[in-house]
Amino acid sequence: MSNPLKALSNEQQNYWVDRISSCAIGESECKAETGATVEEIKDFMLDNEHELCPACCWYMPSDTFLNEDSEPEKTCDECRE
Ligand SMILES: [Zn+2]
Repeated sequence: MSNPLKALSNEQQNYWVDRISSCAIGESECKAETGATVEEIKDFMLDNEHELCPACCWYMPSDTFLNEDSEPEKTCDECRE
């Protein structure tokens, strides 16, 4: 099964990464407009270095999941404060 998000142009991919990580309805919009599933969005965001934080439910840059010792944490840095 191919991920419809990965068939988009770089410009469109950047738009969705930005939209999903900065807007609460970004993921819903993305599903409606591209036909992507939740799993495909998760995979696409991971490819673009964003992970879903289980505490705040936002897609956050992957590096915010690293602590001061560069070890991976379960939540983003904002939720660990
Ligand atoms: Zn968080």
